[in-house]
Amino acid sequence: MAAELNKNDRKVLSALGRSEKPLSAYDILGRARSEALKAPVQVYRALEKLENRGLVHRIEALNAFVACSEHDEHCHSQEHRHPAHRPGFVICRDCGSVREFEDPRVAKMAAEAAGEGFAVDLVALEVYGRCAACRVAA
Ligand SMILES: [Zn+2]
Ligand SMILES: [Zn+2]
Repeated sequence: MAAELNKNDRKVLSALGRSEKPLSAYDILGRARSEALKAPVQVYRALEKLENRGLVHRIEALNAFVACSEHDEHCHSQEHRHPAHRPGFVICRDCGSVREFEDPRVAKMAAEAAGEGFAVDLVALEVYGRCAACRVAA
């Protein structure tokens, strides 16, 4: 069973929740730094716990993190647990906005590509480009 969220976990989660863009561990530390939260290792520990609970996702190619868009504030309470999930992401290079999506075909395609006998432990589907708003603004 997942451990309860502590103060640092909540600080990290709320820094990500307030951000429109993915944040690196150092970005998070810059925003959430306090007496009790001042070392990168503490941020990584919190991120790992949050990731396991499906509240936060890592964008692999950016080495950065986003709060899961399926969860709002009430989901962050201790009692409310969700299974971790691994969505794909559509990421705008201009404004940094991230939209997550889930499509069961992705996992199926990955399993087929990997072939029998290969144990897949991560499928990272990240789609990069420019969002409609940024294209209009340009
Ligand atoms: Zn999610
Ligand atoms: Zn954009």
